[in-house]
Amino acid sequence: MTRICVVTGANRGIGLEVARQLALAGDTVVLTARDLRKAEKAAAGLHGAVQARQLDVSDPGSVERFARELAHERVDVLVNNAAIHYDTWQRASGADLGVVQEALDTNLLGAWRVTQALLPLLRASEHGRVVNVSSEAGSLASMGAGTPAYAVSKAALNALTKMLAAELRGEGILVNAVCPGWVATDMGGPGGRPVADGAKSVLWAVDLPDGGPTGGFFRDGRALPW
Ligand code: NAP
Repeated sequence: MTRICVVTGANRGIGLEVARQLALAGDTVVLTARDLRKAEKAAAGLHGAVQARQLDVSDPGSVERFARELAHERVDVLVNNAAIHYDTWQRASGADLGVVQEALDTNLLGAWRVTQALLPLLRASEHGRVVNVSSEAGSLASMGAGTPAYAVSKAALNALTKMLAAELRGEGILVNAVCPGWVATDMGGPGGRPVADGAKSVLWAVDLPDGGPTGGFFRDGRALPW
């Protein structure tokens, strides 16, 4: 059966590539972006069943409207991809807490509020999957002083992943955090691996079979230390 897949922040970068690969595989993709025109432009460049929708994950009103207006009776896959503030310019002791707050609002609360809003539709799926696109920068095992806003937001996203997974395991909804690796996007900058490889790391968790791992943190299908 064709899966219905929602991808956040899908107008460029890894989100766009995930949407592209899902559509190519025959899934129905709801390609979302905070700017509807960007979503429409991105969707127009893809082949397959792709619908463009406005969704600003940092705006509760936008999230609520998106969930209300989604014309599907279920959602099989939610990829929480949208993120901001890879703050290489600051360190923890002097970090601008306004920047930290913005990072948390998008990278943590954005994923949280979209998941909450779509949960009734995910519950209507026989094979619900939630993939939180995280980063090894959020791993406590290797945590340093750099990128404080980003790292703390991703560590918190990892914690949320475990909590949601524990809660939803009994309902067959798998929830995992995935690091795409260092990827050559606007956020990653030049030098990283191709965006197709980063997207593949994400799609591994999208494509997990029933009874597959949940509450884990992975890159390229291999567990990462928390
Ligand atoms: P990117 O090129 O900067 O793209 C980020 C996407 O998120 C854009 O589409 C952006 O939309 C969207 N976005 C930002 N705030 C949003 C909001 N409030 N609501 C909806 N969409 C929003 O980043 P990327 O490299 O593709 O990163 C994708 C994911 O991979 C992120 O979660 C990132 O943390 C993670 N990651 C990336 C790397 C890497 O090396 N690239 C490494 C580890 C993890 P606009 O165009 O409107 O700004």
